[in-house]
Amino acid sequence: FPTIHRSFTEQVALRPDKALFELPDGGNVTYAETARTVQRIAARLVADGVTPGDRVAMQVEKSPEAIALYLATLQIGAVFLPLNTAYTGAEMEYFLTDARPRVLVCSPERRSGHERHAGDGLVVETLGVSGDGTLLAGEDRHEEVFGASAGDPAAILYTSGTTGRSKGAVLTHGNLASNCRALLEAWRYTAEDRLIHALPIFHVHGLFVAVNMTLVAGASLHHLPKFDPGKVIDLLPRATVLMGVPTFYTRLLKDERLTRESCAAMRLFVSGSAPLLASDHQAFQARTGHAILERYGMTETGMNTTNPYDGGPRKPGTVGTPLPGTEIRVVDAGTGEVLPDGEVGSVEVRGPNVFTGYWQMPEKTASEFREDGFFITGDLGRIDEDGYLCIVGRGKDLVITGGYNVYPKEIEELLDAHPQVLESAVIGVPHPDFGETVVAVVVPVPGQEPGERDLRDFVAGDLARFKHPRAVRLVEALPRNVMGKVQKAELRERYAGLFT
Ligand code: ATP
Ligand code: MG
Repeated sequence: FPTIHRSFTEQVALRPDKALFELPDGGNVTYAETARTVQRIAARLVADGVTPGDRVAMQVEKSPEAIALYLATLQIGAVFLPLNTAYTGAEMEYFLTDARPRVLVCSPERRSGHERHAGDGLVVETLGVSGDGTLLAGEDRHEEVFGASAGDPAAILYTSGTTGRSKGAVLTHGNLASNCRALLEAWRYTAEDRLIHALPIFHVHGLFVAVNMTLVAGASLHHLPKFDPGKVIDLLPRATVLMGVPTFYTRLLKDERLTRESCAAMRLFVSGSAPLLASDHQAFQARTGHAILERYGMTETGMNTTNPYDGGPRKPGTVGTPLPGTEIRVVDAGTGEVLPDGEVGSVEVRGPNVFTGYWQMPEKTASEFREDGFFITGDLGRIDEDGYLCIVGRGKDLVITGGYNVYPKEIEELLDAHPQVLESAVIGVPHPDFGETVVAVVVPVPGQEPGERDLRDFVAGDLARFKHPRAVRLVEALPRNVMGKVQKAELRERYAGLFT
């Protein structure tokens, strides 16, 4: 079983002078150069006292050296812990106390803020975007490779914190390698590919999907520090694949340079991390001729399902079928019984991609696994007539009003069909009689101002009475995090007092 690090080393031997990273300034970093940086960083980490199983935390802007730090951590058998660059002092305090890393690598500007965490076994190193910082200060090389087995931990990734406090998911070398293999095969990703990489690298999408696939295939990536639609469009003629979150596509569609011609060299557009609007899928296809391939995954499991690369339609509003080796089932959340296709229930997953557990949360881990090894994702979904999974929302977003279940997505889809509505989010808020009641938060098409009565009448005909929104609020934009996830918890808080 080859680990991610081993596969990378094989690619270095095969194509040392090939560019792994194409940089915005026109320069590049080759496989061999990256391998040397990895060994230098590994030497530094070993000198800092990192031993197998120790955590190496990183909170830096993305750069080729940050990816080298990831590989160096794997090389010495330590556990990689990337942290969202947006986390502030108090949040970092939580992650550092929770994960107890041996080394924290931060940007040079942040060093003074973390100085007080140093000592007590924590070493603070710095790494800047131009390869500056203490991490690369030494000249030593560390060549020895820790012989990791499939079950050894490779990384702790914190979940996005959409439904509560972020949890650390412990992922093994086997989890990463198996999921990477399955994706390479599913999306026909090879050394010929040139990926546009505009995602952050502290999340499963940008790191374990985008970077792992590129390293293992011997492909190359166009490194973009962050998503910028203009820069992505500039790169399209020199690239083959884009991996994005839904907001990438919403924003690309606003740029008139996105055309069939500008996308002619591309072979694949992937979307995930949050639901892609069916209307964006259709608009993108009409404009470019490309059907966006939507897939479904999460921090705890990597990728679970994907729409087909070929051999079947890529259906808007679905996330496709399970990757090879991964099983998906939809069950009744209460009884755990498998539901007939078409019925909405709790989505559960089992396979070599599924994590071993939450970091230092044995009870939480135990409560999220069934006895037969299926992981309870917390998502609600149904299997359609073609065996494709449709994600209907999150269990925690389910509205229970007067004892009846309301799936927000059903109402959101109806509202979104209104000509003056761009998008919507339906939430439950406290209500003195019903426990909870339905509230719709609507983003109008720019320049439009649909009336509340009009919107309520528009959906009423298709919905049972208990599903009718009791209030509609117009907003300019839905609150989203960097991965494009709508922050419904924030909306629930904002409108909590509407009926109480
Ligand atoms: P937390 O677990 O801390 O509440 P989170 O679940 O948002 O945060 P992630 O692991 O980053 O953290 O996100 C995984 C979730 O993202 C999935 O459980 C699912 O709800 C959502 N998701 C991912 N891809 C898709 C998709 N294609 N369509 C719909 N939802 C998706
Ligand atoms: Mg989650």
